[in-house]
Amino acid sequence: MRSLDALTREAASLASGGGRAVIPILSEREAEVGRQMQICNACRYCEGFCAVFPAMTRRLEFGHADIHYLANLCHNCGACLHACQYAPPHEFAVNVPRAMAQVRGQTYADYAWPPSLGKLYQRNGLTLSLALAGGLALFLILAVAIKGTLWGAPLQGNFYNLFPHNLLVGLFGPVFLFVVFALGMGVSRFWRELKPATSGAPLNVPAAAEAADAVLRLKYLDGGHGVGCHDEDDAYTLRRRRFHHFTFYGFLLCFAATCVATLYHYVLGWHAPYELPSLPKLLGVAGGVSLMVGTAGLWRLNRHRHPLQSDAAQKPMDLGFIALLFLTSASGLALWLGRGTPALALLLCLHLGAVMALFATLPYGKFAHGIFRTAALLRHAVEKRLPNPVGLGAD
Ligand code: SF4
Ligand code: SF4
Repeated sequence: MRSLDALTREAASLASGGGRAVIPILSEREAEVGRQMQICNACRYCEGFCAVFPAMTRRLEFGHADIHYLANLCHNCGACLHACQYAPPHEFAVNVPRAMAQVRGQTYADYAWPPSLGKLYQRNGLTLSLALAGGLALFLILAVAIKGTLWGAPLQGNFYNLFPHNLLVGLFGPVFLFVVFALGMGVSRFWRELKPATSGAPLNVPAAAEAADAVLRLKYLDGGHGVGCHDEDDAYTLRRRRFHHFTFYGFLLCFAATCVATLYHYVLGWHAPYELPSLPKLLGVAGGVSLMVGTAGLWRLNRHRHPLQSDAAQKPMDLGFIALLFLTSASGLALWLGRGTPALALLLCLHLGAVMALFATLPYGKFAHGIFRTAALLRHAVEKRLPNPVGLGAD
């Protein structure tokens, strides 16, 4: 049943025809965030915890775009749940992390490109990820086995003798471009909705620098006081921030290794395989180890997370993404370590299966949270530099 607030907005929307702007109807989840923000706006105890509460104090009402903006500013650290005197079992039932997470998950689907594929976010779970990686790896294993080169084949330690470089570029290049285009289209729609609701002012260099700092340091996983956020209970811990850092920088290092290898191949004419201490190998090994450590830690934290802190419906999507990142990095390192053994072809099939599954699920899975959160942080950094239009809270 929709809330009174949602019905009021629907009535306003219907009454605003005749050429005037139509007010989007809030979903039940969006209306719940709006209800909780009205309570928080009166309380303001958590004002120093993160970017959400200072952004909240700039508003007296919470429309569609405001709620999408705040939901993606929230880092789900859990601090405001454990600090809240109105959290369940209080009758106000304020649970900001969960309410924000539920709307945040919906925004990925709402802004997805093409829109018809937005529903994939709901289906992108652990089982699908593992089945996809396993199925693709099995397909490659069978293809190689039919050729009789699965085990002990004379590849001279070079897997390009099995799958030529140009074939791999032809397979992964178009998928990578589609991932970039789909996520770019989604986040640009998100930006267009947020911009008028966050002052409408254009992005500027100081704001971009501040948002980049918040992203690179994962500033809002420090609980607002530097000692961290919450996981399985109300104790402060920096573990989630640290494991996110391992994962984030591991991913970037692996991406950098691919970019450098591409330059080596096409610009300098230096062809793979590259060995230590070449730059692609150094970046790849450091990135792979970092990704394994980060994703193993995030997996454990996710499994033991306090049940009130997050949206249980999104756990399969979170775990699916974590599992594929772990499998990609682990199989990549195993491929390098096993390059001189008869298992090279088998390891290559397993690695390519994991990478293909990761790429295929990237635009419609947990990866989106980094892109949308960065956009929200950029708008926050722009907005906070302007006078508070409400002028009541600490500005
Ligand atoms: S989460 Fe609770 S304590 Fe924090 S501002 Fe909202 S109502 Fe107040
Ligand atoms: S869960 Fe953390 S990041 Fe989200 S609103 Fe609460 S304090 Fe802010």
